Amino acid sequence: SGDKSHVLFNIQLGDKLYYEQQLIEDMRIAIEKAQFELYFQPQLALSSQKIIGAEALIRWHRNGQWITPSEFIPLAESAGLIDSLGDWILHTACQKAQNLVSLGWSDLVMAVNISPLQFGRKDFLSKVKKVLKDTGLEAKNLELEVTEGVIIYNVQEAIETLAQLKKLGVHLAIDDFGTGYSSLSYLRKFNIDKLKIDQSFIRDIQHQAADQSIVRTIIELGRNLDLKVIAEGVEGLEQQQILTSMGCDEIQGFYFSHPLPEQKFIDFVRLHKAI
Ligand code: C2E
Ligand code: MG
Ligand code: MG
Ligand code: MG
Repeated sequence: SGDKSHVLFNIQLGDKLYYEQQLIEDMRIAIEKAQFELYFQPQLALSSQKIIGAEALIRWHRNGQWITPSEFIPLAESAGLIDSLGDWILHTACQKAQNLVSLGWSDLVMAVNISPLQFGRKDFLSKVKKVLKDTGLEAKNLELEVTEGVIIYNVQEAIETLAQLKKLGVHLAIDDFGTGYSSLSYLRKFNIDKLKIDQSFIRDIQHQAADQSIVRTIIELGRNLDLKVIAEGVEGLEQQQILTSMGCDEIQGFYFSHPLPEQKFIDFVRLHKAI
């Protein structure tokens, strides 16, 4: 009966809420104890075939299980934990990057994901400055990845913050490009360096003419606006060849390398002679 499904619905909802509540509590503890880890996914420049840097991606091993960031980052945002978690991510990524610079990789660019909430804080710029100072990393070795979502909160402030970051010398990338709801006009106002083509356009690019058209258009847009373009989620040789023929600047994805824990990443970088 309808009653039964109502009860079932409430039980399932209750389970979900309980699970999320547990996750939030555990996250609070994990932040205090710094139980997270950063993995690094190498990025490849197609013309030179050189490794140019990496994207830092957070990992959480909880009770013997990996919880994906797509699950816990939104929860951290809604539970008010994203500031402390974001601080840890930025600081740790810069620290690890500075370590690689001191090993001889002077032109490394370390990309760090910034949540829209984190980006929208009044003190975000001063936090970035402080992290660079504390870790000794130069601004040119840091790239911040933001989604189009950053402009939802306050357009004028977002433009101002991006301009200040640019002045500092930090690189700026638009993540998941092509999936947001904002208009393209922001590309004129935002002083950014790079477009990251969302992986949904790459997944079937070898079979889908529509994806090919979209990707070709984004690459041309980047060329006309003097922005670098990187494709995310490149899983195979055929995709890499298509992107190369289209003139895409850089790629990132399982085909070149999965995200790697720090030591494996350093080994990978040595193998590719960046250090
Ligand atoms: P994103 O920033 O777009 O990161 C790319 C995601 O694609 C990563 O998932 C990466 O592991 C995955 N990926 C890379 N290459 C391939 C591929 O060839 N095929 C497929 N199918 N996937 C690939 P991950 O690490 O699970 O992160 C998911 C999302 O969570 C990220 O999307 C980002 O939005 C967020 N995230 C991850 N780490 C952080 C972080 O440190 N801070 C913040 N604020 N968000 C983060
Ligand atoms: Mg990203
Ligand atoms: Mg992305
Ligand atoms: Mg994403």
